Amino acid sequence: NTMLRIDGMGVTYPGNVLALRPTTIEFSKGEFTVLLGLSGAGKSTLLRSLNHLVRPTSGKVISSEFGVLDNRRTVRQHRSRTAMVFQHHQLIERHTALQNVLTGRLAYHSTCRSLLPLPRADLELAYHCLERVGLADKAIARVDQLSGGQQQRVGIARALAQQPSMILADEPVASLDPATSARVLGLLRDICREDGITAVISLHQLEYARRFADRIVGLANARIVFDDTPAHLRQEH
Ligand code: ADP
Ligand code: ADP
Repeated sequence: NTMLRIDGMGVTYPGNVLALRPTTIEFSKGEFTVLLGLSGAGKSTLLRSLNHLVRPTSGKVISSEFGVLDNRRTVRQHRSRTAMVFQHHQLIERHTALQNVLTGRLAYHSTCRSLLPLPRADLELAYHCLERVGLADKAIARVDQLSGGQQQRVGIARALAQQPSMILADEPVASLDPATSARVLGLLRDICREDGITAVISLHQLEYARRFADRIVGLANARIVFDDTPAHLRQEH
């Protein structure tokens, strides 16, 4: 039931910065994993290497759908099914929520499509994704008119429009207040459960990891120091 297998993968950045020691870990289908650690621990590096946004210096990433990510074709296929959610959501500010969601969808279609009238099915899918994050009534609002939490929900809708089998979210709630953070994380987890999406989310708050994760992978000093269910995470960690 493995979705993604990381085999002896390490990352050293230019300047000899060891960001991730060789690591072997598997992510199961439908699992909601939180990468937990302080700033600089290596969360972002591990997360981004899962779809080769950061290129591993050693070892390999193996997708159960597409095989070893050791060539452009496989990396492209894997990325097409792996959606990303970012801390600063990377939305196009002057565009509407619906346009932003569509951008995510169309980015993974042939480029000449943008010259053709938008297929109705794409619009309907994008609208449906906004409905799922509770923003149907904001479809034609410009995203720079929305609150931080709403913008991050647009970011989640954009990820969903890609119909992913996996979602990677890098500190998705770091810019949000506590109540909004909990709401956004709860929404993300519920949607991933409903759709059987495998999720890997980096966070630095233990409290949210405990509350929402199926599994917590703790990172410190470029290595995994903990890998278990929230129930087994003892107070001292
Ligand atoms: P994070 O929020 O994950 O702690 P930072 O805010 O420290 O990350 O870094 C923001 C961006 O700068 C990231 O894309 C990261 O890859 C890059 N970065 C972080 N540290 C360095 C560094 N020492 N040299 C070059 N780029 C870095
Ligand atoms: P986290 O996400 O846990 O904050 P990162 O993966 O961003 O940790 O960073 C791990 C280490 O790698 C840190 O020491 C950071 O400064 C360094 N780093 C991150 N990105 C880069 C980069 N592009 N170039 C050089 N060093 C980097």
